[in-house]
Amino acid sequence: MHEFSVAGDIVENIIVEAQKHHAEKVTGVFLEIGQLMMVEIDQLRFALECLSKDTLLENANIHMETTPIVIKCINGHEEEVSWDPYKKPLELTCPVCKNTVKIIKGRECIIRKIVAE
Ligand SMILES: [Zn+2]
Repeated sequence: MHEFSVAGDIVENIIVEAQKHHAEKVTGVFLEIGQLMMVEIDQLRFALECLSKDTLLENANIHMETTPIVIKCINGHEEEVSWDPYKKPLELTCPVCKNTVKIIKGRECIIRKIVAE
């Protein structure tokens, strides 16, 4: 399942980060999930909980927020678009001038904050 591979990376990064700061226990994690990651938030949460067992991340509060996709067209219009992959295809034209666009944000998963003891 896609969510498990995403969660695996997240857990690994958090543990590396926590160890850098000599944390003994992580109590909270704040994540930003780009909509183009195409993960189901509930499944991602489940995967994170499974994978954090027996690590210093066990029982941490996991806060997740999905972040919008940001596109930019050749004329420099930058727009935030919201996309539900289960409802409609992503339209890749500028809403202002209808030119083609580049995706500049939305593919990433950001660990915004780690609360540790
Ligand atoms: Zn435009």
